[in-house]
Amino acid sequence: MTDSILPKNLWLKILIGMVIGILVALYVPISDTLKPWVSLPGDLFIALLKMVIVPLVLSSVILGIASAGSLNALKSMGARLIPYFILTTAVAITIGIGITSFVEPGLAIDKSIMAPAEKITTQTLLDMSIPDRIMNTIPVNPVEAQLSKNMLQLVILGIIVGISLLTIKRKTTKTFRDICEFTQDLCLMVVSWAMWLAPIAVASLMVKAIGTMGMSALSSMALYMACVVGGLLCILVFYMIVVWVVAKRNPLIFLSDIRNAQMIAFSTSSSMATMPVSLSVAEERLKTSDDVHGFVIPLGATINMDGTALYQATVAIFLCQIFGIDLSLGETILLLITTIGASIGTPGLPGVGLIVLATILSSIGVPAEGIGLILGVDRLLDMCRTTINVTGDLTATVVMERWMHGK
Ligand code: ASP
Repeated sequence: MTDSILPKNLWLKILIGMVIGILVALYVPISDTLKPWVSLPGDLFIALLKMVIVPLVLSSVILGIASAGSLNALKSMGARLIPYFILTTAVAITIGIGITSFVEPGLAIDKSIMAPAEKITTQTLLDMSIPDRIMNTIPVNPVEAQLSKNMLQLVILGIIVGISLLTIKRKTTKTFRDICEFTQDLCLMVVSWAMWLAPIAVASLMVKAIGTMGMSALSSMALYMACVVGGLLCILVFYMIVVWVVAKRNPLIFLSDIRNAQMIAFSTSSSMATMPVSLSVAEERLKTSDDVHGFVIPLGATINMDGTALYQATVAIFLCQIFGIDLSLGETILLLITTIGASIGTPGLPGVGLIVLATILSSIGVPAEGIGLILGVDRLLDMCRTTINVTGDLTATVVMERWMHGK
């Protein structure tokens, strides 16, 4: 794709859409009959993005791997990327634990608002043992993986096909590669159409998001929310240092290059829905190589969630403070490790970071009902943490570009 798929000044139009959405949500009463119409542009926008996710992930990963050129190049990318993901996630969690232990928002909370603890249903996936979860990464039935949009399985499928493409030398390989390239272009074209809808869609998504937020809970939870948002800002600063020192790029230019992806992440609360935009931002704005963004972004959108990790650790410590649970050093380290696993296992969809949290809470003895307390303000925090998750993937992309291609 050479033509730009993102309309000019998209970020500004999205920003205006956001402001209009917030004003409408706060000041215009919307009747129940009108609600589905108000949600329609937002739902259509997300549906268009979701429509291309499966073919786009598959074609991007396959082409990303194939354009690495050799298995050795691929190994060296994987050997750097995975430790990088784990390390940055550990930094995010440490920031979360540090800030929450220092500010102690749990001690300031008015316990009376805790009474109606809502029950939350945990995913069946969480009940799986670790060997089962490892087994679950193999796309035993590739068609089912596509139907159920199991991202990790799709990435693994793409890696397997990509490696085969690198190793099998036949004339048909070229034809298959051409098909993948066409599929990728086609998906990005659909994304470019969806982007014309983005400003209206964002207004509609904002109206919906604010409608689901417990406004009354906002003030009593202010300190807790400040810890999460403050922590996320610290991660942003950390990324900017990484962009500057490791990727050797100007952090301010980097931020302005990626703002379209950040805004889509903020308004959709979904790393997965943002992935098509992240890919085009990497290609068009950051000018990274196909092998780098084709591999890093789909994998990152699936397993690299630093914002979610910080959020999960912050909630765990916050609830420990409320329930009067003192964590020993060993338990804090256990929390760190469990949170790394939980954030990796969190799919890039709205609100699931909160659901996956239940695993962490049970491992440190906090009743999962505590989640009821933070439910009301989750959407806003979800928007913020998803923005950081996506920023993290794009940061990893420029770091890998520097490490793999020296630019
Ligand atoms: N919404 C987040 C994402 O898509 C996941 C989460 O709930 O933390 O990245």
